[in-house]
Amino acid sequence: MTERWWSGAGNTQDAFFPRTASAAMPTIVSGRGAVLVDDRGRELIDVCSGPFLTSIGQGDERVLQAMLAQGRTLTYTYSRSTRHRSNAELTARLGHLGGPGLDCVHLTSGGSEANEMALKLLRARAVARKEVERTRIITLMPGYHGATVQTLGINGDVGVSALWGPLTVEAERIPAPLTFRAPSPLAAADASVDALLAAIERIGPERVLAVMIEPIGGQASGVNVPDPSFARRIRRICDRTGIALVFDEVVTAFRTGAALVAHHDPSAMPDLVTLAKGLGAGYAPLGAVLAPQSLADELADSIGFVVSHSYDACPMACAAGRAVLDVIVEDDLIANAARIGAVLRHGLEEIAAEVSMVGDVRGRGALLAIELVAEPATNAKFAAEADPGARIVQIGLEHGLLLYSRRQNGGRFGDWLLVAPPLNVTDELASSIVERLRSVLLTAQRELLG
Ligand code: PMP
Repeated sequence: MTERWWSGAGNTQDAFFPRTASAAMPTIVSGRGAVLVDDRGRELIDVCSGPFLTSIGQGDERVLQAMLAQGRTLTYTYSRSTRHRSNAELTARLGHLGGPGLDCVHLTSGGSEANEMALKLLRARAVARKEVERTRIITLMPGYHGATVQTLGINGDVGVSALWGPLTVEAERIPAPLTFRAPSPLAAADASVDALLAAIERIGPERVLAVMIEPIGGQASGVNVPDPSFARRIRRICDRTGIALVFDEVVTAFRTGAALVAHHDPSAMPDLVTLAKGLGAGYAPLGAVLAPQSLADELADSIGFVVSHSYDACPMACAAGRAVLDVIVEDDLIANAARIGAVLRHGLEEIAAEVSMVGDVRGRGALLAIELVAEPATNAKFAAEADPGARIVQIGLEHGLLLYSRRQNGGRFGDWLLVAPPLNVTDELASSIVERLRSVLLTAQRELLG
């Protein structure tokens, strides 16, 4: 029997959502590994790890024990006035994972904060260098970097200007190198690079602080994987102009067969990388900026950098993050992401061959998406008022899948389903995701396309 404990005074987080969206949401009462259980006793496989977040699944005893031990020893101490061991241990692991050039770590409580912190670090360095004109940020459209006022202003979302524009310093957006429907991935990359060059020219290179990109897209582009030339060419442009290159790896970290996308191509190394989601993995709110030690030294030896939040490097979050990283290493989850990703991708490609509404399968490692098309022959998008993903999510629930579908700006860039389960998902569960998704999409296609 459904107990409406969530609708009393106070409510739950969805109280502010549109009524139709919150009415359709399942109420989750427990979770284990990659499986959630709702208040009707239904088991739901969490196909996208929440929003690409629960990298090691729910309820890992090693992380829970580490957090309990931390809480019993030291629950909190303020990072502005003290230091503590878990901070040192987590940042040592992260610095090691980042490697040369990304070896110095500034912790935050999430991805939006990490992106803002990266921009603040770069702005402070520019001021220390007397490059005070450097204030402008260039980002991709579509793209996502967060929900704080400033990160809203840099998101690649056409709705931003009217709603948030007056409150924020908006980024200059250039078209993302979307591969699906482009003549080729290379042509898409070339067009984006041309737009970047034009933007830098228009603004003036000396006024641009940073180019911030998702090196592989998340929800905002349906895991767009740019042609490799894209990041390389941006790297060269940034080198020439003294503009910093920031990779937002909040979604991509640990998922693509390397710890970071930044590690796939040494000729496209960013100056800074931001992380969050899979790092705290749902056990604690946690984010990080990975920077070169030289940046930290330069700031510490000049104007210093003392922007902080009360929860930066909080012991409980550090203990959780340290234990999550240990699990990732101990269980070889970065390699497993590549392995299980290949299994999932193969399954999705088989579905695409059978279900014509699936126009594209893309991604890297265990970060995958399928794009839905309204007209298989032409790959036409769904209409602005259609929301095929929302319906597919409902059908998914009936098949034991918790799906994450997205469209942005009324489907202007497309409609997609994101497939990015916990990195330790078993082969059996991966096959089950594929089988169920096949039934879900066949049902949806009959309903939506007739
Ligand atoms: N960057 C990207 C690429 C993201 O997907 C997100 C979250 N969806 C963020 C930043 C913001 O992270 P958070 O929600 O932890 O603030």
